[in-house]
Amino acid sequence: MAEHRVRRLQRVMTEVGIDTALFSTGPDLYYLTGHSGRVSERLTMLGVPAIGEPWLVVPRLEAPLVPEGGLELMVWDETTDPVGLVAARCRNARRVAIGDHTWSVFLVGLMSRLADVKWSVGSDLTRRLRVIKDESELAALASAGAAMDRALDRVPDEIRFQGRSEAEVAGDLRRLTVEEGHDTAEFAIVASGPNGASPHHSPGERLIETGDVVVCDFGGSLDGYQSDVTRTFTVGDPSPEAIEVHEVVREANRAGRRAAAPGVPCQEVDRAAREVIERAGLGEHFIHRTGHGIGIEVHEHPYLVEGNTEMLAAGMTFSVEPGVYLPGRFGVRIEDIVACTESGLTELNQADRGLIVVS
Ligand code: ZN
Ligand code: ZN
Ligand code: ZN
Repeated sequence: MAEHRVRRLQRVMTEVGIDTALFSTGPDLYYLTGHSGRVSERLTMLGVPAIGEPWLVVPRLEAPLVPEGGLELMVWDETTDPVGLVAARCRNARRVAIGDHTWSVFLVGLMSRLADVKWSVGSDLTRRLRVIKDESELAALASAGAAMDRALDRVPDEIRFQGRSEAEVAGDLRRLTVEEGHDTAEFAIVASGPNGASPHHSPGERLIETGDVVVCDFGGSLDGYQSDVTRTFTVGDPSPEAIEVHEVVREANRAGRRAAAPGVPCQEVDRAAREVIERAGLGEHFIHRTGHGIGIEVHEHPYLVEGNTEMLAAGMTFSVEPGVYLPGRFGVRIEDIVACTESGLTELNQADRGLIVVS
């Protein structure tokens, strides 16, 4: 158990008047206990009372996976009703927060047994903790970012694009992600030619041709923390238009990073990046927010989006990833992970941001 994190959670709970917080398998459980658990029909659930000691309801066959120390285990056998165990522990609670990743089958079961409870979402509590990374989290994110930089460095020499399918190239990117030190490769988007206009394109059988612009967005997990980086490649010499659009996106990426500092509202980072793209007359083709927080999850708070007036603060980590998507033709995105510090910003990715020529 991460004792200091649980105590901080309890302080927040007392502040906002939550009696018990419940977390099923997911990022909050990992953050608070170091236990990843398994997402399944067998209930694992952490209970944190505002005052007192936390407990964990866990299936017998997964109890050996729980890290030792500080957690009262309520181990249940195959014939026991685990929802009943949780409900019994919440008997005296009036206000209960429940983790965002809880399956509805468990929540609905709890709601029917705890008719008088007023429910709220767990992320209202945990986002306040998780949004500010501590030293060990920053170190893990920095290692993950550095591993991605090394992977990117290898791409032009080691990965052939021309004549191969997007899916094959995505497989290569996943392999580099793991070879450079990630525990797992979590995702790899390879969006070539017209497919590049779809920001979350799923790599398929399209064969990559000379002249294609190819958006590669990939990342992995290292010590429980995520990486997420995007570079845009061209197969052979780029067209003048590809060079021009890429230069605009690169400038937008730079403007976004420059705008980010402690005390700056999240939406200002989005505005800074967007303004560059709008000035180039491409505003209608930048169809998503500028960035997202990253940590145990690839996407988490804070979100760098118009309307988010939350202030950046030291310890926040997030992506800056402007893009331009031209339907039927091509897309360009450049994405980096950065960490907000007392004095400004640390770049967790520093790989070359140019338009990279591959063969
Ligand atoms: Zn994305
Ligand atoms: Zn990405
Ligand atoms: Zn991203």
